[in-house]
Amino acid sequence: MGRVNEQNRRKYNNPRRNNREKYDLPKCPVCEKYIRDVYSAVSYSVTQTPAHFNCILNELKDANELKPNEKICYLGSGSFGIVQFRGPESPIRIFIRKRIQYEEKDNNPEWREKLPLKTSL
Ligand SMILES: [Zn+2]
Repeated sequence: MGRVNEQNRRKYNNPRRNNREKYDLPKCPVCEKYIRDVYSAVSYSVTQTPAHFNCILNELKDANELKPNEKICYLGSGSFGIVQFRGPESPIRIFIRKRIQYEEKDNNPEWREKLPLKTSL
């Protein structure tokens, strides 16, 4: 009996294997899965909480009708664009048909400011 207790004690006294993950991973409001790469997350328009980049992209694809030669791309600074890829006969190969400012411009979401600093760039 004493032996079992000793084993239990040891199990609970185990130092945390991974001190690195002190930061609680946020859950994506779209798919409700954890967001592992928070640094590439996008602020969800409804909840203003981080969401997967791909989940936002899929929502934008659903909300915007795309032509076969169009794709939604991230343009930076929280904005996406519907980008047209034109044929070689056109002087303009890539044309942004519509710009979608998704995140508020010049307004860093609060959750992003609280992120621990990224150590590797
Ligand atoms: Zn998601």
